[in-house]
Amino acid sequence: MSDRKVTKIGVLTSGGDSPGMNAAIRAVVRTSLYHGLEVYGVLRGYNGMVEDDIFKMESRSVANIIQRGGTILKTARSKDFYEYDGRKRAYDNLKKRGINGLVVIGGDGSFNGALRFSKEFDIPCIGLPGTIDKDIAGTDFTIGFDTAVNTAVEAIDKIRDTADAHDRLFIIEVMGRDAGYIALHSGIATGAEHILIPERKTDIESVIASLQEKEKRKKLVNLIVVAEGDEFGGAEQVARVVKEKMPNVDARVCILGHIQRGGSPSCIDRLIASRMGYHAVECLLTGKHNVMVGIQNNKMHYTPLENAVKAKQKINEEWMRIVKILAS
Ligand code: ADP
Repeated sequence: MSDRKVTKIGVLTSGGDSPGMNAAIRAVVRTSLYHGLEVYGVLRGYNGMVEDDIFKMESRSVANIIQRGGTILKTARSKDFYEYDGRKRAYDNLKKRGINGLVVIGGDGSFNGALRFSKEFDIPCIGLPGTIDKDIAGTDFTIGFDTAVNTAVEAIDKIRDTADAHDRLFIIEVMGRDAGYIALHSGIATGAEHILIPERKTDIESVIASLQEKEKRKKLVNLIVVAEGDEFGGAEQVARVVKEKMPNVDARVCILGHIQRGGSPSCIDRLIASRMGYHAVECLLTGKHNVMVGIQNNKMHYTPLENAVKAKQKINEEWMRIVKILAS
């Protein structure tokens, strides 16, 4: 707890974009104004702080954005912010406007930057988990995950139709560089036979054995969902081995790619973004500084940024068991 008074808040989106970031920005801006605070938008992540691309926001600045994907503040990765000189310039740009509190909407990388910055320059920072990957501990939801996973489900359902018409095996790659949540959720929801994720070692031999067994049973429609960061390789790599071992199988690859980042945020993402944005400002006002605002068991949950950057959300073993049993 800190008794330092925050009067001017900066808000930025950083790292990978995710649907619902706009709803979070809107909540931060409107809650700040409600409390009589000044609020400033920082453009292109930490770059805007370093390069002084900062502007004052009013209630109308966030009109008509709750339903829009992407982020009106733009997002970027900032090389300069890794260096002390860059962060010092960023601090000077905040200081000359009197900005004395920051809300950073992004992933764990962005929280790392915020943590460093808050320690060096004593500016309280609040992190909001904005990532489609859902790989952050201390929260059941991250802004954008629900939308991304629903986009993946919709696409995989469509692929299943054509897979069924042609008796094909489809190997579908979804996003997730270090985390398998999109793969796991979308795979279970679409009845995939196998879900390959970076958190578990892929036993390709047993995947092949199971496909061969299904082939004998004349189960010809098979979906394999692979997270892009799976340690065995992406969908192309899996397809290469399948074609080698099962030359009679008509195996196709589909990489869903960036469609998973875009689109109008789902109801859940708008809701959690609004709640988190509201609570971010409340945290700055009540002295609960340098925390990530999350939601656990439908209650707000605050994780010190120090812990938020260290811990990853764990894959539930029971879910892996469900995948196996339901695909048999
Ligand atoms: P994400 O927030 O989606 O995980 P990144 O890992 O790319 O994305 O981080 C976003 C930005 O946060 C980086 O481009 C950099 O500007 C800043 N950042 C990340 N780690 C650090 C760090 N250790 N020190 C300073 N800035 C950092």
